[in-house]
Amino acid sequence: MPSFMEQVKTVAFHTLGCKLNFSETSSLSRLLEQDGFVKTDFDDTADVYVINTCSVTDNADKECRQLVRRIQRRAPESMVVITGCYAQLKPEEIASIEGVDLVLGAAEKFNIAEHLKNLTKGDSAKICSCDIEDVNSFHSSYSLHDRTRTFLKVQDGCDYNCTFCTIPMARGKSRSDSVENVVKNAEKLAANGVKEIVLTGVNLGDFGKGFEGGKKREETFFELIQELDKVEGIERYRISSIEPNLLTAEIIEFVANSRKFMPHFHIPLQSGSNDILGLMRRRYRRELYAEKVGLIKQFMPHCSIGVDVIVGFPSESDEHFRETYDFLHSLDVSYLHVFTYSERANTLALDIKPVVPVNVRHERNKMLRNLSHKKLQFFTEQHIGQTRKVLFESHNKDGMMEGYTDNYIKITTPFREEWSNNIIDWELR
Ligand code: SF4
Repeated sequence: MPSFMEQVKTVAFHTLGCKLNFSETSSLSRLLEQDGFVKTDFDDTADVYVINTCSVTDNADKECRQLVRRIQRRAPESMVVITGCYAQLKPEEIASIEGVDLVLGAAEKFNIAEHLKNLTKGDSAKICSCDIEDVNSFHSSYSLHDRTRTFLKVQDGCDYNCTFCTIPMARGKSRSDSVENVVKNAEKLAANGVKEIVLTGVNLGDFGKGFEGGKKREETFFELIQELDKVEGIERYRISSIEPNLLTAEIIEFVANSRKFMPHFHIPLQSGSNDILGLMRRRYRRELYAEKVGLIKQFMPHCSIGVDVIVGFPSESDEHFRETYDFLHSLDVSYLHVFTYSERANTLALDIKPVVPVNVRHERNKMLRNLSHKKLQFFTEQHIGQTRKVLFESHNKDGMMEGYTDNYIKITTPFREEWSNNIIDWELR
């Protein structure tokens, strides 16, 4: 029988979850393209299908099964590879899904080309995964040609232990690229015509931990942004998300004075109740959060601030939720990302009682989404009449194009080729 690699030509990807996963899928795609594969659309017939899974999305398991079933109906002879956080957390469960050929854990995903060489369709699914404690290597990743904005992964893993979170179990210890290497990647991206880089990581503010030549490396996120600011050709940077306790005054001040770092922060809050923050084992209290928002607005009144918040965490009473609602209402922030708490295996939050009924969780989610809508509207209206710089994306969506101002206000307008991947002065109306 010919080996699998002799027959394989096309590969298709499907990504679930966060920006980190998108940047990693993009890198996996480049790795396989270097190995002779041709990338094709997930809805087309391919020789290999790769699904990059997430452990944060609800029903990761169901979603994964549905995707595999879809592939089986369309291309029963194709190889199916599952990787990502869910593959690290539940490798056996995934391997038992009919049609799956290969399960790649956190340490193995970037060796995908090697693993495919030894694969034969019809054998039972092969699991290549090690204990997450042993995952120590860092693989830099970035999305290229996928968007005008590129997601550049500079950090992975997390040393925190928030009681609701499975990410440290799926991605391992905090580790980073070196400043030097990130700068090289940024230069490479600039040479490819990329205008905006979104710095991405699991716990970005913890950037700097790593090993080089067997020796421990200690750098800081502040050092990183200072060096990136000097890279020619990149016109914009955004910081995807940063923990409030790691967002220092010097970072805020630097962003305020930089022409390249955009006035835009995304800062997880998770709850506006100090009781709940304690139970979540978050490393700050609401006072510190308010202080950081105040400092940002003092330096950059026009800065956009996004907030992650979880509703329905165990023991969140009506009173606790009211505290969160009122706190967010009072804060000068621009939009919210609202998550409904859902139980995750092996997390400490499972021991916290009482659980919040699911219908109450949904009701709270709705209230905060409405608040977010109002906040965004208010923030946008504050800028009407101003001229701000908009970077337009190159995608033509039914004759329309989209772009974002420096402070992350979304603009939609009829498509014009000469504007795509260009920064245009735009009067907000
Ligand atoms: S900081 Fe907390 S929520 Fe974020 S990845 Fe680490 S453990 Fe999870």
